[in-house]
Amino acid sequence: MNSICVYASSSDALEDRYNDAAQRLGTLIAHHKHTLIYGGGGIGLMGVCARAVHAGEGHVVGVIPKKLVDLELAYQEADELIVTTTMSERKGIMAEKADAFIALPGGFGTLEEMMEVLVLKQLWYHRKPCIFLNINGIYDHLLSFFDALTKAQFIKEVHKKQYRICNTPEEAYAYLDTYIPEPVHEKWF
Ligand code: AMP
Repeated sequence: MNSICVYASSSDALEDRYNDAAQRLGTLIAHHKHTLIYGGGGIGLMGVCARAVHAGEGHVVGVIPKKLVDLELAYQEADELIVTTTMSERKGIMAEKADAFIALPGGFGTLEEMMEVLVLKQLWYHRKPCIFLNINGIYDHLLSFFDALTKAQFIKEVHKKQYRICNTPEEAYAYLDTYIPEPVHEKWF
């Protein structure tokens, strides 16, 4: 495993516990000598995580659409800043470059990115680990909704095994260290 993709909030108005988690995750990424692949922002949990990777002398790759660079929202200190034309191009590059996906707490942007890699996994485009970092139980309602969707048979039980819920960055790394891809279930329909 070389590169970890982190999806995370762009909000600067969060409680300390969320910023602390982003910071600890960044420190762990640097400690493991992994590369951070992320949305390239200098704000919110994205910026906190990227700066923590740099503080640990790790490598940061940001993938960001030109529109956000023009708004001066990019983390200019990134070791590599890949500027894309569209949001979907950006997501494709992030997904391709990463060996694992971690969703720190976030809003629509974070959820959308995580949902896409889960769908890609469900359709066997990749077999990489996908983790919800459920800091302070922030994803509890979403995860309960997934349970309701599964109960009503919109989601297959087997596909719920394609993501892992972790409560701390340390737990997430313990999972990554021992990750074995789930078996591929060929009978999708
Ligand atoms: P959200 O969870 O809605 O705050 O959106 C965060 C996600 O959307 C991140 O993972 C980024 O990929 C993307 N994003 C949103 N705002 C920005 C920004 N200002 N700069 C870079 N990426 C952003």
